[in-house]
Order: sequence, then structure tokens, then C-alpha cells
Amino acid sequence: MNEAHADALVFFGATGDLAYKQIFPALQAMVARGVLEVPVIGVARSGWTVDQLRARMADSLREHGGIDQAAFDKLSSLVHYVDGDYSDPATFTQMRETLGSAKRPLYYLAIPPSMFGPVAEGLAKAGCAANARVVVEKPFGRDLASAQALNKILHEHFPEEAIFRIDHYLGKEAVQNILYTRFANTWLEPLWNRTYLSHIQITMAESFGVQGRGKFYEEAGTIRDVIQNHMLQLVACLMMEPPTGSTPEPVRDAKATLIKAIRELCPEDVVRGQFQGYRSEQGVAATSTVETFAAVRLFVDTWRWADVPIYIRAGKALPVTACEVLATFRCPPRSVFGEPTYDGMNHLRLRLSPELVIALGTQVKKPGGTMAGVPVELEVMRRDRLAMAPYERLLSDAMHGDATLFARQDEVEAAWEVVDPILGDVTPVHEYAQQSWGPAEANALIAADGGWHDPLAHEPAVQEATEPEATTA
Ligand code: NDP
Repeated sequence: MNEAHADALVFFGATGDLAYKQIFPALQAMVARGVLEVPVIGVARSGWTVDQLRARMADSLREHGGIDQAAFDKLSSLVHYVDGDYSDPATFTQMRETLGSAKRPLYYLAIPPSMFGPVAEGLAKAGCAANARVVVEKPFGRDLASAQALNKILHEHFPEEAIFRIDHYLGKEAVQNILYTRFANTWLEPLWNRTYLSHIQITMAESFGVQGRGKFYEEAGTIRDVIQNHMLQLVACLMMEPPTGSTPEPVRDAKATLIKAIRELCPEDVVRGQFQGYRSEQGVAATSTVETFAAVRLFVDTWRWADVPIYIRAGKALPVTACEVLATFRCPPRSVFGEPTYDGMNHLRLRLSPELVIALGTQVKKPGGTMAGVPVELEVMRRDRLAMAPYERLLSDAMHGDATLFARQDEVEAAWEVVDPILGDVTPVHEYAQQSWGPAEANALIAADGGWHDPLAHEPAVQEATEPEATTA
């Protein structure tokens, strides 16, 4: 691991939406924790002054978590602003001057993906790429070919170990906790395989629609926006083999091996949906076939996981905003007490948001004279408050040079290989009513395994989100 702490943070896209919603709160939190004490240089082309950037930071913080006066004052003193277009070499010359004596800057590209290449090139031509790291936002390509092309462009100027590809899902406390719980205990490992598990399902639901970002969403759709990245990374964390160490490469090797073992999707394993009214959203084509919902059935072709289906459904305008994993155990081998047995009498439920819950579904005896059972959940953990937001964790790690929570080139390309065959209009898109669970066709996909688990079943009162979510696309 490159342990050298970055000595400046250059932040391309400082006037953008992501900066406003996620990055300024993360920067203030980093200052408050004492892990950000170097110059922070915002770069954009809005013609702003540094005071305007400070004012924007203050507005952002008021709306997203509040101002911590001491941390805000410190952050304000660290901030600089460089104005200029990314296609203009003068922007990089000015940025280089503003960097002063900094020798190991971190460049964070919170900008449209079409600008990743020009900015990488601009940095290199201005002599700013040496000893630097670059953090790139999602989406990383729109299919396998474009991801490979983007990797090629970045590699012309930065070695792989200097490239940090953000998938903010990996920065979530709940996802970290999956890895920790799996590999810091012995009780789960003997059960975590095809012998004991019948299937795994994940629901990632958003109750809201595209929130005025129809133009952006038209370029993505659910499969590109969340399945290829967040969901496959989550599958990797759930199903990877134990890493040989906790440093970045053993963890990333184990994740990459798992993703490479996921079978390429075929049309029979995919159902796409679009919520009624999507085509009337601003920026959306009247004939759009972009999906706002997708359900997929995956298989991981390894010794441990052969023939265990993994079902994922994700979408917008669904009944609730929540993300939940349910691992269903096979039924007991025989019924000792004369009761019917079925897969799912036991489960492991991992609630990722809005609450953080780990719960073990089990059967216990109903009090009374008969040997009859009742299902209960043993709650291993429940948390409503979060210590650290994903962007705070990820940017702190990138400043420190720890790439564990960032996607490596082979992981990203392997994930595109999985979804590449079903991108676009290979499968039809079915309409669904807003605030429903998507098209009925999605139920058929999982019917053989008992149907979708309702994330409201165990957590009926969905509370306020515990973690600021980076809205998708
Ligand atoms: P915006 O369009 O809101 O902001 C883009 C930023 O890039 C602005 O600061 C803009 O500057 C700057 N910019 C664009 N082109 C140029 C140029 N030629 N020269 C100088 N500056 C330029 O985008 P977002 O903030 O929404 O998204 C940024 C990245 O983050 C994207 O890759 C997106 O996919 C990703 N992302 C966004 C999320 C979100 O919630 N918004 C969630 C997850 C990922 P100016 O305003 O001055 O024109």
C-alpha cells in the first residue's frame, strides 16, 4: 500500500451537484476528525471567487447535517478556487501554481465522465500527474468496451495503483460490516455455502423517481446505474472467499475472483420495468425504453456456490426506500415434530439501509403443550446512527493511499462482462405503477424460490435515512 498521505486535495467539479450534496459535508467531517489539514483546491468554470465557493459550502452544510463552526472555519482557511475550462491548458497551469509546494496531490474527478480523459491528459501535460493519485466518480464506462477504453486513457497518465474508482456502496458502514461479520467469526463460515443456503436475494428500493435528473437517467437505467456496480460489489462482499490479509490487494483479489466467476447474464435471467409517468419526466424521450427497475437472477460458478441463485431487484418509485439482503437456508432434512418444513425456516437478514440490522431468523417452540413452532428473529445488531458517511470514509482512505474500498480495473471490467449481454433493448421493458413492486414478470423470475422478500416485513416503520445517500445517476 502506498502509505504516503496526500499533501493537497484538488477537487474537480466543486460547483456541481455531488459536491453540494455529499462532498462538502464529507470534507467538514474530515477536518473535524483531524484527517484533512492540507490545501483543498476546487476547480470549475463558473467564474466564481473563493468566497463564493465558501458560501456554497456553507449552504451545502446547512442543508446536509449542519455547520460545525470550528471545522468549517478551518476548512474555509484550507480552501482555494481555480476557475477555468478543463479543455484549456491554462486551467492546469493555474492549478499547478495554486498547488505551491505540494508533491503528492490527490485529484478527485467529481465531473461528467466525458471529462475524465481530458482532465487526466491536462494534468499530465502540465506535469501534475507524477506521484499523484486520481479518484474517479461513477459511472466507469457504459459497457465493457467503453470501460476498457477509459482504463486505457487513464493508464496513459496514471498507473493502476494511483487510480481510485469510487463505488460509494463500498464505503457504507453496512457493507463494511458484512465483511467484518463474515471474516471475524467462525459460526457463519460452515453454513455459508451451497449445502446450507437455498438462495440469496437483495432488494435495493427507492421510493422516489428520477428527481428532475431524467436527462442523466436516460444515459444509464437501473442495470448500468446500480446493478453493474453497487449490487455486484455487494454480491462480491457477500460471497467472496476469505481474503488472505486485510491489506488492499488480498481483499480486492478475493472480490475480483468472485465477480469473475459470476455467469454472464442472459435474457431469461432479466426483467426490466419502467414506472408509469417516467416518459413525461423532463429530459426523458417520449418513447424511452430505459429501465427504472430491473430484476436479475445470477449464478456464481464456483465450488462453494454452484446452483445457488442470487436474485437482485432494484428500482425507483417502489413502495419504500430500503436495501436488504436475505440469505435463505434450506429446510431441515426431515420433520421431527410433524410440522411442514420448507426453505426459509431459517434466514440471515442483513438490512443495509435505512437501518443497519443483522438478524438471524429461527424457529422456537410456541409456549404450551404441543411441539409446534413459531418464527423469531435473533437480532445480532441494530444501529440507527452512523459513525461515518461513505464519502468521508472513501476520501479519507484515498488521501491516505488505501485502495481497499475502491474498485480495481479487473473488478470493473468483470462486472461489465456480466451485464454486457443484456444492456439496451435485448429484453422488453414492462410498465409498472408507481409505488408498486415493479412489473409482475419480476415475480415469475423468483417464483421457484418462494417469491421476493418484502423489506417492510421485519421493519415496518422505515425511519429517516441513517446515512446520506448519493443519489444514483
Ligand atoms: P454536475 O453536472 O452537477 O457538475 C459537474 C461539475 O463539473 C461542475 O462543477 C462543472 O462546473 C464541472 N465541469 C463540467 N465540465 C467542465 C469543463 N469543461 N470545465 C470545467 N468544469 C467543468 O455533475 P454532478 O456533480 O451531479 O456529477 C459529477 C460526477 O459525479 C459525475 O460523474 C456523476 O456521474 C457522479 N455522481 C453524481 C451523483 C450525484 O448525486 N450528483 C451521484 C453519484 C455519482 P460548472 O458548474 O462550473 O460548469
